[in-house]
Amino acid sequence: MSLADALTDELAAKKSQGCGVGKLLGALPKPDRAALLEAMVNPAYTAPAITRALAAEGHKVSNFTMRAHRRSDCPCPKASA
Ligand SMILES: [Zn+2]
Repeated sequence: MSLADALTDELAAKKSQGCGVGKLLGALPKPDRAALLEAMVNPAYTAPAITRALAAEGHKVSNFTMRAHRRSDCPCPKASA
């Protein structure tokens, strides 16, 4: 495999998995998922506020990952972001 192929595969793998927030959304029970999605589109919730709440529930997500996901600047499929 060439380096170019390996890099393309790397991107494809990342895309299908999504970022930490995307993976968490996939793993959360429905009510939690809805609450998180709602909080992320509500500007009243800062990224640190959301990550603190997630941490309190045992979910580790960095502020950086949270910010990137809210901006859609992450590997998640954009339709489900
Ligand atoms: Zn994401």
